[in-house]
Amino acid sequence: MRLRNVKGSRETIAANPYVIKDAEEKKGKWRELFDNDHPIHLEIGMGKGKFLMQLAQDNPDINYIGIEKYSSVLVRALEKREEYEGDNVYFLRMDAEDIPNIFAEEEIDQIYLNFSDPWPKDRHAKRRLTSKEFFERYNQILKKDGVVIFKTDNRDLFDFSLEQVPLAGWKLKNHTFDLHNSEYVEGNVMTEYETRFVNEGKPICRLVAYRETSE
Ligand code: SAM
Repeated sequence: MRLRNVKGSRETIAANPYVIKDAEEKKGKWRELFDNDHPIHLEIGMGKGKFLMQLAQDNPDINYIGIEKYSSVLVRALEKREEYEGDNVYFLRMDAEDIPNIFAEEEIDQIYLNFSDPWPKDRHAKRRLTSKEFFERYNQILKKDGVVIFKTDNRDLFDFSLEQVPLAGWKLKNHTFDLHNSEYVEGNVMTEYETRFVNEGKPICRLVAYRETSE
């Protein structure tokens, strides 16, 4: 994502009630924030929030938390949030590396990773959001029957991810190298990046990963 230093973004975020500042104190208590027992879905690396805000509008009985590392990007999602009257969306400005400090075991029901940064150099592989190191973090916070859903246009990153799933001890529920010409396209909500890539005629890869439960 091209990052511009958006003037005043830190101040805007500091003043916005939908960006949670005391996230570590909410660990194990996120349902109290939403004031209901609805499932909680996370999008990690949410960008400008198009996907998350669409899901929140379509599914008022699901709670959503969007995680984004950069203030200058997160402020764009906050603009969309201002136009929405529902109370099922909050945001965190943080590096996803820290999620086990923010969410308790099994507190999250589903995780979305959309067009995650590829980190093409081998020495940066651990930073990829679909590395086995990140799957271990998801393992710590995701319900036993929860899934990770990952979309990308980047074939190298997708092939890497297909390898990491079993290495992390997870399984593939399904995957496709061309989502928009597959049976899985029904109900697909497009992200900002996805809209751009689809318009350019690029195929979109998608996988769904899960863990086998012993119960
Ligand atoms: N998901 C959006 C979409 O599909 O349109 C944005 C995709 S953009 C390529 C990736 C986003 O993930 C960027 O906004 C970036 O700042 C964010 N990101 C990358 N690594 C992250 C991390 N470790 N923690 C939180 N956000 C991250």
